[in-house]
Amino acid sequence: LSYYFEQIKQNQHLNAFNEVFFDSATNQANVVQQKLTNGTAGKLAGMVIGIKDNICYKDHQVSASSKMLEGFVSPYSSTVVERLIEQDAIIIGRLNCDEFAMGGSNETSYYGVVKNAADQERVAGGSSGGSAVAVQADMCLAALGTDTGGSVRQPAAFCGNIGFKPTYGRISRYGVIAYASSFDQVGTITSSVSDAALLLEVLAGKDDADSTVSTLPVPNYSQNLAQSGNKKIAVLKETIDNEALDPEIKAAILKAIEKFKAQGHQIEYVSFDMLAYLVPAYYVLTTAEASSNLSRYDGVHYGYRNTQAESLNKLYKTSRAEGFGEEVKRRILLGTFVLSAGYYDAYYQKAQQVRRLIREKIENLFNDYDFLLSPVTPTPAFKIGENMQDPLVMYMADIYTVLASLAGIPAVALPLGNNASGLPLSVQLMTKHFNEEGLLNLSDRFL
Ligand code: GLN
Repeated sequence: LSYYFEQIKQNQHLNAFNEVFFDSATNQANVVQQKLTNGTAGKLAGMVIGIKDNICYKDHQVSASSKMLEGFVSPYSSTVVERLIEQDAIIIGRLNCDEFAMGGSNETSYYGVVKNAADQERVAGGSSGGSAVAVQADMCLAALGTDTGGSVRQPAAFCGNIGFKPTYGRISRYGVIAYASSFDQVGTITSSVSDAALLLEVLAGKDDADSTVSTLPVPNYSQNLAQSGNKKIAVLKETIDNEALDPEIKAAILKAIEKFKAQGHQIEYVSFDMLAYLVPAYYVLTTAEASSNLSRYDGVHYGYRNTQAESLNKLYKTSRAEGFGEEVKRRILLGTFVLSAGYYDAYYQKAQQVRRLIREKIENLFNDYDFLLSPVTPTPAFKIGENMQDPLVMYMADIYTVLASLAGIPAVALPLGNNASGLPLSVQLMTKHFNEEGLLNLSDRFL
């Protein structure tokens, strides 16, 4: 633990942590030490883990990196935190992220941008940027993030670690601050597949507090890692033969494909003709859900309140106007618009129909293939500020990650080494609902 505290101190300039839990982590470490000596320690004994600052931990602050929740102390723990602690993990602190997990660069945080340890002029990715950098710079062993449209996979890709998003409904969302509830899923950022497997095994499974969690049994992912046969992998052709794809990412992926072949897997290129619909459908649906989820921040129940307001209406208005940042407001407006009478059919309902078509198409592909392969991102980590002027440019960069989110399937970002300037490159693998075991096994053998 003192090693990680020291690493955090050395890397303060990266801005990965919103708060380090010195006291509770130290206490927990003492408890675990005791348990280790008397042989009662759990599966994660001594694993030092950072949590994204939108995951509740009893008696600790949680802010979603927003002024709106500044100083808010959670009265209860999320299911994921409870399960980590039950297995004797040590929670070292809360990690910076985009405000309410809305963003792809960790530049919308009220607590400032997170810097990529590979190049401090570049973004960490987002929204779980702090989680990715904390693992990248060895400030904790592993981190939890949340992935609504790529927020675990994309920062992991930018920082050279493994970002794993399970099936929607595999892990409880109880106590996780909501962005878009039909997409949100807790995921892990680790530097080994075996850590991802071990964490998933602890986090996954039925929870009475979240009815969207599947009751399917949870396999012993970490024990079963070695079981991997030869599989059929479909490369989504249009995602690779795409002028917008960075040439070094493309070259690294083509090399990865050769490695899969050499390992005995069968590779086929298949056409996926719905790429153009992914980002629009994702942003219509997620902003709609966000506008509803964020209506609870009214200046009365939680966090920030304008104390000067003379009427209830003014209190709502000024508290929300002052508490939320620009990107969050943009999304609330967009979401309210697509849900409004007169536009609902044209936007929200249409996007839901598109989502169903995408899901059906993907499910059909899994009749013939075990895995789908695509890039995680069109480019390596970009410069801080570069994409902030134009939200559409930023949204378009999510094109490869939102597919798995719309379909609700598991997906992983795997590191493929660095480009000529030392920036991490990566590839994404996806699989059918609840085949986390297959995905972890394939990843483990590949790396
Ligand atoms: N970049 C995407 C967005 O801004 C993904 C965010 C996420 O997964 N939380 O919505």
